[in-house]
Amino acid sequence: MFQISWPAASTYRVHEGTVLPATGASPNPRFRKIERCNWARLAGVHQRVLEGYKDGKLSSKAEGLLLDWCGEWGLWGLFLEEFVEVRLPGLYEQRQTNPEAEPGETTHYTVMPVQTIYRRETGRWIAVERNEQATYWYLGNVGVPHYDPDAQVAAAEDYEDNEGELVPDADWRSLALLRRLGSERIEGANLDDLRAFFPTLPANAPIPEPLSPEFWQHYGESVSSWLRAATWMLEALKEAKAGSKQRLEALSSNGQLRWIGAGRKSGTVEWAAASTMSAMAFGALLELQAGKVRVCQHCKGPFLAKGKITGTRKWCSTLCFQTGNKRKQRQAKKRKKKRAVPAT
Ligand SMILES: [Zn+2]
Repeated sequence: MFQISWPAASTYRVHEGTVLPATGASPNPRFRKIERCNWARLAGVHQRVLEGYKDGKLSSKAEGLLLDWCGEWGLWGLFLEEFVEVRLPGLYEQRQTNPEAEPGETTHYTVMPVQTIYRRETGRWIAVERNEQATYWYLGNVGVPHYDPDAQVAAAEDYEDNEGELVPDADWRSLALLRRLGSERIEGANLDDLRAFFPTLPANAPIPEPLSPEFWQHYGESVSSWLRAATWMLEALKEAKAGSKQRLEALSSNGQLRWIGAGRKSGTVEWAAASTMSAMAFGALLELQAGKVRVCQHCKGPFLAKGKITGTRKWCSTLCFQTGNKRKQRQAKKRKKKRAVPAT
């Protein structure tokens, strides 16, 4: 059966309109196995959160439902879906000018502009260091230097007084690149806008590397962005059910197969997704293929058929079944009455 692992805090809270890990929630988010999304429940939670969200405030009932949902699924990971690249502000730092020096060879250091860049790759993020003469690609703990020995490195005295300071040149400024859900174009954004996703991060701390424990410790989503993502997911599923699967496909392109397990032989291959959104999209595509996604006859919301008993079910919930049935009974009564009226 389809499963996906996704980090989520143990509990969440709402603080100034943002859902974030509860105080005291484990700073190392646990990876949860996500099996199948209860779409009917998502539709219900979405509807009631929408109704209970007025002027930037949530009713306590809506808040409870939202926190229950997040406690099970974690947040959407909207940041991870929409942002493509984040460049932190460039700083003057000390770096080795001959990183390819052989053991025993003299190493030289100088102060130069250095910038950290986070970049999204399929199913993961990488951190890249860019400096005046080299770009280092850090893949896990292995640094693979792309080093240009002919690069013009400024003499130390040009920068050394500025060590630790911001590089003022436009070329080294901070910048975030994002592609909003459904958009075809990449936009630039200010790093300050991006801080809304990290409400508990101290003002002078840099944006943490995506998917790092620190990232998860501070990552939050505003109620309005949670709602935007939920609307998007539900619409994507309805569209896919109606025949056009582009939206779901776009979300599921952000995942990869990964080998889970330490041994050479023991282990399993599992889908790893970059966000809850892409995990759900993966699941939904598989459920669609299996013909298990249904649309409720009463509320028109999507739901999953499961098992034999509910295999032919036409309603997403008992409530819809009852309301739908009552309406049917009423209509049947009306028809009966009409028929009972003698023709004149
Ligand atoms: Zn329904």
